[in-house]
Order: sequence, then C-alpha cells, then structure tokens
Amino acid sequence: MNTQSANPPENPLEPLEDSRRRQLVEVTIDSLAELGYVGTTLAQIAGRAGVSPGLVSHYFGDKDGLLDAAFRSLTRRVGDHVRARLRQISSPRARIQAVIDANLSQEEFAQRTGTAWLAFWGQVLQVPSLKRVQSVYQRRTLTNLRCSLKRLVPKDEAHNLAAMIAAMIDGVWLRAALSGWREADSESARALLTEFVDGRLKAAPARSATPEGVEVGRAPAPGERFASYNPATGEVLGHVTVAGPAQVNAAVRAAQRGQIKWASMPGAERARVLRRTAEILRSRNQELAELESRDTGKPIQETSVVDVISGADCLEYFAALAQSLSGEHIDLGAQAFGYTRREPLGVVAGIGAWNYPLQIACWKSAPALACGNAMIFKPAELTPLTAVKLEEIFLEAGLPPGVFQVVQGFAETGRLLTRHPDIRKVSLTGEVGTGNAVMTDAAQTLKNVTLELGGKSPLIVFEDARLDNAVSGALLANFYSSGQVCSNATRVFVHSSIKAAFLERLLRRVAVMRVGDPMDPATQVGALVSEQHMQKVLGYIERGRVEGARLLIGGRRITTGALARGWFVAPAVFDNCRDDMGIVREEIFGPVMSVLEFEDEREVIERANATEFGLAAGVFTNDLTRAHRVIARLQAGTCWINHYNVTPVELPFGGVKMSGLGRENGRAALEHYTQLKSVYVAMGDVDAPY
Ligand code: NDP
Repeated sequence: MNTQSANPPENPLEPLEDSRRRQLVEVTIDSLAELGYVGTTLAQIAGRAGVSPGLVSHYFGDKDGLLDAAFRSLTRRVGDHVRARLRQISSPRARIQAVIDANLSQEEFAQRTGTAWLAFWGQVLQVPSLKRVQSVYQRRTLTNLRCSLKRLVPKDEAHNLAAMIAAMIDGVWLRAALSGWREADSESARALLTEFVDGRLKAAPARSATPEGVEVGRAPAPGERFASYNPATGEVLGHVTVAGPAQVNAAVRAAQRGQIKWASMPGAERARVLRRTAEILRSRNQELAELESRDTGKPIQETSVVDVISGADCLEYFAALAQSLSGEHIDLGAQAFGYTRREPLGVVAGIGAWNYPLQIACWKSAPALACGNAMIFKPAELTPLTAVKLEEIFLEAGLPPGVFQVVQGFAETGRLLTRHPDIRKVSLTGEVGTGNAVMTDAAQTLKNVTLELGGKSPLIVFEDARLDNAVSGALLANFYSSGQVCSNATRVFVHSSIKAAFLERLLRRVAVMRVGDPMDPATQVGALVSEQHMQKVLGYIERGRVEGARLLIGGRRITTGALARGWFVAPAVFDNCRDDMGIVREEIFGPVMSVLEFEDEREVIERANATEFGLAAGVFTNDLTRAHRVIARLQAGTCWINHYNVTPVELPFGGVKMSGLGRENGRAALEHYTQLKSVYVAMGDVDAPY
C-alpha cells in the first residue's frame, strides 16, 4: 500500500502551480540559505527576483505567507521523493529504506536546502502556520515508517521503532546542519540509519508472517506462502509454499520409493535420463536463463551462456560416469577373492545458495542421481524458482517420481533435511556459519556432508605477467554476477613494479562496464540479490573508506532511471589496502576488489594464505616454474594459472580450511555420493576350529 495516498487531501501541501510563484519560492530558499529567517524580507525577495514588492504580496500576502509557501515546497519535495520510491517497491524493509534515503538524500544535505530547512525548524515553535506544515510532514514520515514496520514486528514495537527512526533522521540531519554542513555526508548518515534499523529488526520479536510476502530473516510457518522478488525491479515473480515436517517426511517417503526403482536401473539407463534432461535444459536455455536473471538479478548475458549450460554440461558428464561406475576385484589367493561394490547412499539432500540457483541444483543432483541416489533439494529462499523447473524437466526426461524433489523454505526447512534420520547425506552450498550449523545437525545422524562454503581468495599478479590477461583475470575474479561468486579473488596482490600500470588498465576497463537492466543483452553487471545484501555490500564499501583504503572507482548505489527500483552497485576498486582491513579479510560477496601491493614471492604466499578461507586462488606469471611452485604452496582447493573463475565440470571444485569439505564435479564427486561394500568370496571349504 502506498501510505502517502492514504493521507487526507485537505493537507497544506498543495502544489504551487504558477511558475512565478515557484520562482519566488526558489528565491526565498536562496535568501534563507544566505541571510537566514530574519534577514529574509519581502523587499529583499522582490529585489532578488527582479519584481516589485507588490507582486510578491499579490501572490503570498505577507512575509509569513511567503515563508509558509517555501516551507511547504521543501516538505512537498521530500514527500514526492518518498512517494516516487514507495511506488516502485512493495517489501516493507525496502519501504523503510526509501523513507530514510529520501529524507537523507544528497539534496537534503546540500548546503542551500539544508540551511533553509534549519531556518524553518528554528521558527516552528513561534509561527503557527509553519508548525502546521511541520506536523503534517512529521505525521507522514511516521505513518510511512509504521505501516512498513507493522509488517515486520509487533504493533507496539513498530510504533516505538518508527519514532526512533524519525528521531534519528532528524538527529543526523541536525548534527550536519549545526556543523555548518562541514560534516554533511548523506551516504554515511544513511548507512548509520540502515545499520540501526537492521540491528533493531534483528533484535525485535518477529511478527507472524503474512502469507503473501515474507521479509528476509522472517521465516513463515509451514504451509504459508512467500514471494520471490525480482531484485532489479522489485516486482513479485511468484509465490512458493514453505515445506514443514509433514511435507519433508512425505518427500522422504516418496524419495525412498523412487530411489529403489532408480538404483535398480542399469547405469546406462540412468545415463539416458540424465542426458535427456541435459538436452531439454539446452533446448529451453533462453527461457530458463531469463527466469534465472529475473530471480537473481544477474545479466542475461551471463545466465544465457553459463547457468543453464553448465548445469547441462554437468548432467552429461555424470551421465557418462553413471555407465562406468564400478568396484574393484581383489585377488586373495587360490581360496578366495574379494570385490567392492560402489553403492548409492539412498536419499540425499541438497541445499543451495542464491547466486547460481539452477547450476547448484544441477551440480548437486547430477552426481547424486548418476550414482543411484534420490535427492531432495532446497533452493535458497531468495531464488526459489528455477529448481522447480528442473524438477519438471527431470520428470519429463523420464526420471521416476520422487527421485528428484524440491522443497521450499527457509533455514528451518533446511534443518528438517539435515536432521532427518532417513536422509543419508547433505550437500550444502552456503556461508561458513551455515556450514557449521549443517555439520553439527548432520552429526546427530552421522550423515555424510559436502560443504561448499565462502571464500576470500587471492589472485597474485607477478611482474612478468601479461598485463592485459592479468587485468582480464582480475575482472573475471571480481565482477561476474555482480561479484556474488564464492571463488572470487577479491584480494588482488600486484607486484609493486607493475601496480601503477595494472591499475591504469584496470580502471579504464571498469569505467566502461555496463551496469543496467539484467534483461538487456548489452548489460554486463546486473543487480545484487536483495536490498539487505546491497546494504551489506555498501556497508563494507563505507568501512573500507573509514579504514583508510582509497576508493578508485564505483562503490555507489546506482539509482538513475529505472535502476532506482533495484539493488545496483557500481563495481568498486580499492587501492591502498592493508591485510588487516575488514574489506580485505571478510567475504563481501559483492563487486568490491581490493588491490594490494607485494615485493617478493615468499611474502605474497604468506599473505595470501593468511586467511581462514581456502576456496580458490590464482597466479598470473609467465614463469612456468614459479607458477607451479607458488600454486603448490597456496592453501586453496581450486586454483588457476593465468586465468580465473573457469570451472569445467571435469575438474573437481571445492575448498580447504573453512571454505568447505568434499568436492563437487569431476570423478571426485562420485566418492561423496556412493559407499563401498566389500565382499569376500570363498572358493573352497570353510575351515573352522570348532
Ligand atoms: P546461506 O548459508 O545463508 O544459505 C545457504 C542455504 O542454506 C540456503 O538455502 C539457506 O536457506 C540454507 N540454510 C540456512 N541455514 C540453515 C541451517 N541451519 N540448516 C540447513 N540449511 C540452512 O548462503 P547464501 O544463500 O547467502 O549464499 C552465499 C554464500 O554461499 C556465500 O558465503 C558464498 O561464498 C557461498 N557459496 C559457496 C559456493 C561454493 O561452491 N563454495 C558457491 C556459491 C556460494 P535460506 O536461504 O532459505 O535461509
């Protein structure tokens, strides 16, 4: 609901239609900014505007009338901005942000406008007409905030929190005004408010969820529906229903039935179904890529060549392996021999992250199904749509019912899977914290786990590297999928002798990257997945600045034209970074590159390894011996020499240290979806001492 339209039309914020009136109001604001309230007189305004004082009185009566009109004009403009933002968004958290952003925008922090506001606030208690305008303005702000907050937290809490947010908006604004606008920084003020709101919402008791749209972090109950939003526009794409214990149990039972049938089929027959699935995926590439772009905000330029296609590649690869799964024959002498059978685990679970929803579903299901397992898959709640398509396509390709099923929901649904006694394995792609939680829960039933977790990977550019290739590598390592790639090398170590040249070429290319509508084939950088995630990324960028890193380019939210409706951030490059900075140590998962300088090989290896993560690493050098020597010493599961972020399905993918356990892709994945049965076969009589 647009709360602004609910206000009575009698309000004193009527538009001034006449252009002369508007001109006089603007001149009044100029005068207030320069001379203050007392110094602003009718004669003075008339002189500035080049009209007679009589004309000014004709329009506004007296000075009070003129100032009253000017104050209304200021409040109306903020109101218009709030309304324009609210019209485009429906999620309550985003609507709260819209109120904050409009009230603390650059324009309101500009010296001219800000000083005029200050002049008015100073008179509100003495001039009743100004008091009226101010009351309406405050009421609107509170109503807008309360309305959104009531969808997130209980009513009383919503009222309290709305009052606090409004007071903080006034407070940060006033502090900037009283500093004579020397401390005026709209972005920091908004970041402060954002952090405050997020902190309070996190601590507040959750309101029971609405069926139609559930906020991030506010899980709906089983059976309730939640919406999936397009991060580029805020539009609702569809709704899915949360699976609770009853649905998960039913899915496990159906999976058990299907798995028996599936596992009894010869590998060649399973392979045919997987290949057919891949064929259908390829034939529907464009349609699925478009859906993925809408659900994730990633540009169609990427999803149409990577997401669906790499899923299909994976299915074809494991289809081939399904036919060659085999055990071992072990010679035990003349009287016996042994053999091993590579058997499926049974029913397994896959839990996906939101950055590559369909690809992750394929990367998990292809090896699981090739080995004869059934899989229950839970996509991330932010991107629930394409996994459902995959389920349909599997069935169309001839997969027995129950062998691949999608359950929807939040962390609680994930936990139902990881804790289920009849699920034998869980493969998670997610954050380190989630990995910990999943492993702890899985331990109760001794499940196998594969954990594909986060990273803060290094890319090392030596002085002999081919510079353009190294720059291309750094770009691929940071800005694909708006930087939301787990293996990204966000710590780019560049040898001091080439750093200036590297940065020069890098910035030239970043400056012309096209951020825009994900559905436009020319767009290279799309939206971040959610408003909450965008705020996190912007928060890191601000933190980088505060910590002393130099932002060379980008790093701002883009709100021009239609992009204002979504969560777009211009790719950022930081220089002057130190190893101890937050932006260098922590996973940001956004388009933020930190460039670091190094002098020698030993030093850079040590610094590259000085992290709890160990997902990936890259080296650019023309010295082959050095390339292999350095790679051998880097603590990372997946490495590239003279390239970055290419992940052919034939190569195992995964991390070491806190970045994960186990591997996806390659033959290595088979180990994680099968168990060995050892069989001893006697060829002679049984010799017993009894
Ligand atoms: P999260 O860890 O927040 O969520 C991952 C999945 O786990 C979601 O489906 C989530 O559900 C679910 N989940 C959350 N808590 C639990 C729990 N206690 N038990 C079971 N399931 C749970 O990750 P994001 O979706 O935010 O993805 C970003 C992270 O994923 C980054 O850290 C990134 O590095 C990592 N990642 C790693 C990759 C790799 O291969 N190593 C590849 C891609 C991403 P819900 O979303 O519904 O809350």
